[in-house]
Amino acid sequence: MKDTNCIFCKIAAGEIPSRTIYEDEQFRVIMDISPATKGHALILPKEHYANLYEIPEEVAADAMKLAKKMASEMTQRLECDGFNLAQNNGEAAGQTVFHFHMHLLPRYKEDGNQEKFAWNHLELSEDEVEEIYQKLTK
Ligand code: 5GP
Ligand code: ZN
Repeated sequence: MKDTNCIFCKIAAGEIPSRTIYEDEQFRVIMDISPATKGHALILPKEHYANLYEIPEEVAADAMKLAKKMASEMTQRLECDGFNLAQNNGEAAGQTVFHFHMHLLPRYKEDGNQEKFAWNHLELSEDEVEEIYQKLTK
């Protein structure tokens, strides 16, 4: 299914032009319009799923297989020093386009993002940690 109001549906379908670096029946991989690093790209499924909760398991598995393939190929071509995969779900997690996508982020020593990609660590009490552990396991 496509969503007629969704920009990534239109890009994935080729209705809006994009710099496409890979395409098959299921996915299009495009260069991000506002790259965080040199070569920042996005894997878009051609079908519309808002996020990880909605995407079928098999499509998610295929997206991860493609991410692995793209990471190897891009690392070779760009001679980057490392690689991040990122995938945001929901506003609270930083999602701004509500069509599932995976960020492919080639990383370079001193690429200016060393801090941005890190996160702060919480200082939780033993009780708080235990409470979360119980929620995750009971
Ligand atoms: P999110 O924050 O939802 O995980 O990521 C959305 C990403 O899509 C951002 O990195 C943003 O720069 C990128 N983006 C938004 N609109 C467009 C567009 O029209 N074309 C391309 N190529 N990238 C886009
Ligand atoms: Zn869409």
